[in-house]
Amino acid sequence: MILSANTIEYIAVAWTIAAILLFPFLLKVTAPYGRHTSNKWGPMIDNRLGWMIYELPSLVIFVTLLLTGGRAFSSPLWVLFSLWTIHYVNRSIIFPLRTRTKGKKVPVIIVFSAIFFNLINASLNGYYLGWVGPEYPESWLTDPRFIIGGFIFITGFMINQMADKKLIGLRKGGKTGYFIPRGGLFNYISCPNFFGEIVEWTGFAIMAWNLPALSFAVWTAANLIPRALSHHKWYKEYFKDYPKNRKAVIPYLF
Ligand code: NDP
Repeated sequence: MILSANTIEYIAVAWTIAAILLFPFLLKVTAPYGRHTSNKWGPMIDNRLGWMIYELPSLVIFVTLLLTGGRAFSSPLWVLFSLWTIHYVNRSIIFPLRTRTKGKKVPVIIVFSAIFFNLINASLNGYYLGWVGPEYPESWLTDPRFIIGGFIFITGFMINQMADKKLIGLRKGGKTGYFIPRGGLFNYISCPNFFGEIVEWTGFAIMAWNLPALSFAVWTAANLIPRALSHHKWYKEYFKDYPKNRKAVIPYLF
């Protein structure tokens, strides 16, 4: 059965509305992984392994759908394909291998819910771009939406990479535990990696200019804003000398 572009668009709208409706719930319940991990959520598995298992579907599904759609790849489609792939090769393979989280665990329920989340986002975006969505003409390369969105994506990607690198570097030399990150955007917000990720997928949505990409950007914000607020609260409770003027995720705002 081949779903039409219209059907995928309706699903993407429903998925976006689900993010907005679930946002108040996500603000209340902190996902139990990383510093918020807890053994009250049932069986657990190794943190790195869990990370790879739940992020890999985003890479594999998206790439498979684009390559099996039978479309001639125009240059704009190549760019979108490459940006998603670069992001997810890092997120699903390189990032977990770089983290210093030896011995840490993640609840299996988080692994399953993240697989579900990634499955929907990668399927909507991959299927729409690779199979049924409107094809991009070569002229889309010079469309202001593609250029501005591309600039926003790259800016977000660099912010995200630099922030993750700094956080992972805090445990250099065999250290464990948590430290106050300082410098760059950390002087303004607690979670520049989340801020960068939100900026990145907002840029991608502008470049792709379609509803599945928009739904992914909205979901990224709906996931990461509550997580940043939880991290920020945790930092302020854990470190008595935590910088007072730092916000959680959006500089100067919140
Ligand atoms: P965190 O900022 O919680 O952690 C990143 C890494 O740095 C972890 O290995 C963490 O260890 C370590 N770390 C963080 N803060 C400190 C500190 N103060 N001192 C020492 N080590 C620290 O990010 P997440 O793990 O939640 O997410 C990782 C990446 O995945 C981010 O770039 C995020 O944007 C992305 N992501 C994207 C989502 C989306 O919806 N698109 C959803 C979730 C994540 P530990 O694990 O032990 O805390």
